[in-house]
Amino acid sequence: MSTLVHAALTLRKTARASFGLAAAAAFLGLVLLGVFRGGPEALGLEHGAVGVAWLAIFGARAMRRARTREEATETRWLDLELGALLLVAAHAGVQIAGGLGSSVYPVVYVLVAFLASFARPPMGTALVLVAIAIEAALTALTEARADWRQLSLHGVFILLFGALNVVFTRAEIARVRERSKKALDEEKAKVRDESRLFRLVGAASGASESTNPEEKIYRSSLEQVHDALYHVLELLKSTLDLHTCVLLMKDEGTGKLRIVELATDSDEVADGPFDPGEGAVGAVASRGLVMRLENLRPGYKGLCYYRDGAKVRSFLGVPVEEDGRVRGALCADRVSGEPFTPREEGVLARAIAQVMRAIENERVFVQLERSKREQTYLHRASTALGAALTEDQVIDAALAAAADLAPYDFAAITLYDTATHKHSVRKAVGEGADRVLGLTFRDNTSLTAMAVKNRHYLPYRGELDPKQQVVYTKRANLTAMRSLLIFPLIVREDAIGTLAIAARRPGAWSPAVRPTLSVLANQLAVAMSNAQAVRRLEEMATTDGLTGCLNKRAFMDELERKLTSAARFGRPLSLLVTDIDHFKAVNDTYGHDVGDVVIKELGAILLREKRDTDIVARFGGEEFCVLCEETDTPGAVILAERVREVVGDTVFTTELGKLSVKASIGVASFPGDAKTPADLFKITDQALYAAKRGGRNRVCTSRDVP
Ligand code: GH3
Ligand code: MG
Ligand code: MG
Repeated sequence: MSTLVHAALTLRKTARASFGLAAAAAFLGLVLLGVFRGGPEALGLEHGAVGVAWLAIFGARAMRRARTREEATETRWLDLELGALLLVAAHAGVQIAGGLGSSVYPVVYVLVAFLASFARPPMGTALVLVAIAIEAALTALTEARADWRQLSLHGVFILLFGALNVVFTRAEIARVRERSKKALDEEKAKVRDESRLFRLVGAASGASESTNPEEKIYRSSLEQVHDALYHVLELLKSTLDLHTCVLLMKDEGTGKLRIVELATDSDEVADGPFDPGEGAVGAVASRGLVMRLENLRPGYKGLCYYRDGAKVRSFLGVPVEEDGRVRGALCADRVSGEPFTPREEGVLARAIAQVMRAIENERVFVQLERSKREQTYLHRASTALGAALTEDQVIDAALAAAADLAPYDFAAITLYDTATHKHSVRKAVGEGADRVLGLTFRDNTSLTAMAVKNRHYLPYRGELDPKQQVVYTKRANLTAMRSLLIFPLIVREDAIGTLAIAARRPGAWSPAVRPTLSVLANQLAVAMSNAQAVRRLEEMATTDGLTGCLNKRAFMDELERKLTSAARFGRPLSLLVTDIDHFKAVNDTYGHDVGDVVIKELGAILLREKRDTDIVARFGGEEFCVLCEETDTPGAVILAERVREVVGDTVFTTELGKLSVKASIGVASFPGDAKTPADLFKITDQALYAAKRGGRNRVCTSRDVP
């Protein structure tokens, strides 16, 4: 139905579009018939009428084009129409001017160039071809003597104009895109640099690349700081009659001085950054001296923030200090030459105090904003983790929350089995996840194993050097990653596994986020252990504790279900009952514990030998049942014989020497032997009894039942 509607719509669209094309074809017909030949003096009323018709159609289509959304398919058709109409009109003009050889002809080139670059790619190409086709038709029909050389020359030029223009326009678009991307990157870098300059970023996260939401916070904070700074500097400049008032601060990464904010009448101020050792400004910013200079000669080079020497006559520089360290300089200068007074020095010092307070306020604000954001994510995560019932749900919720808190390229959760001392990767997402998914490894020197052992996150600096450090195993190391954090999942005192996040870029996350991730890991650990407990409870209700096989109750449920389905589809179904021969003697001789080991091994043998669709249950004591779908008696006997042989071949080493046991097995099938579960069990038991009576260590079926 919807395809029909779609087809109808497409048809309507095409019909509408081809209306313009039909008009273009009609006009072309007139041109080809030579209606426009004969020079300007031959033009009459009928030509005027054609012109008006052309204008009306072109205008209508152009308006429609202007109203259509740029992405719509229809715009392409409209482009084609408008292009065709223009081409025909141009040729009409060329005809009036004397035909293809006339001096007006280059208009066609210009038009083709224009169309080729502005119509979307397939239509642009189509229009170039249309132009050549029109020209060929004109050459053949209207020229007195068809000049094929001229046609091929024109054709080549049309193609050339079309192609060149497309190339240039596309190149220009690419250039503009590249430029705006670069501008955006620079803007981002600036936000990062300045955040660092004002130490809005946590102290140790020098090179950290701010993630998107953080960048927004920084940006608004920086605006606040700059506003405050600019007002202070402007105020100083106007009240102290300054030429320039500038705040320079040292970049802790590069050690260079940078202009942070500036109020000036000069257009000679340099961009920086500057060497902090240079001149008077350097003395203030690196040695913490107050510099007061008078009677400077014109062109004095000691003020680094002027490009070609200063015009100013007097200078005052006051150091900007924070936590007892010099971090920059507040500089003021005057053209008038009036020396700076100690009172003015005091004003500058107070201004610095105010500026530093503004910056400190923003630092606190950023800190608050960030923790607010993290709290929101964490709250969301704990709600999701609380609602998760299964281990998979828990894992998904945790990985999603970690992505919010610390965007990663790779993340994984491992579980640790304290009994076998093995780690296994339970889930992995992101780059290279498929290489580690399902990976199992013993306690080794990997960061994962260490994090579990030490119950502390690793690596301490959050950096990964894949040449030196192993995340899981050497073979499946995360070679592409440079940032890494592995958090142990701690429940009470033990680590039950790890949460790892990794990123390609170095210094991906600010250290401030680590405590939050630790909290997430703790919540994950608790939710995980709850989900595991739930799973174990469920398993306990259906499985036998010693062997891991189904228990009797669960087996009876399965038998009921499988038998109903076998009856409905008319398929066979077989039941095996195994019993160890003279097992009482084993218990008596070797003890109950050894007996248990034998029972456990029998369970393992059955689980190993059965088909995927078969079901094994321990029925109590040393008696097991196997239910085989889609299997008749001969098929079940094959399995039974195999089990019997494997059991007989298995040797147990005990304190009292080597031990082996034999087993007897009874087999019966639906529908041949019985129709109900109770009857099936009865016949199978009789077959087992027959095996015992017949000398044990054998397989018997209903045929052996007397
Ligand atoms: P046969 O089957 O060949 O007739 O002789 P049997 O000695 O194996 O006789 P039966 O199957 O009737 O004996 C079951 C014995 O298995 C009784 C008990 O000592 C032992 N048994 C039952 N449950 C357990 C258990 O959970 N652990 C251990 N170790 N022994 C068990
Ligand atoms: Mg028994
Ligand atoms: Mg027995």
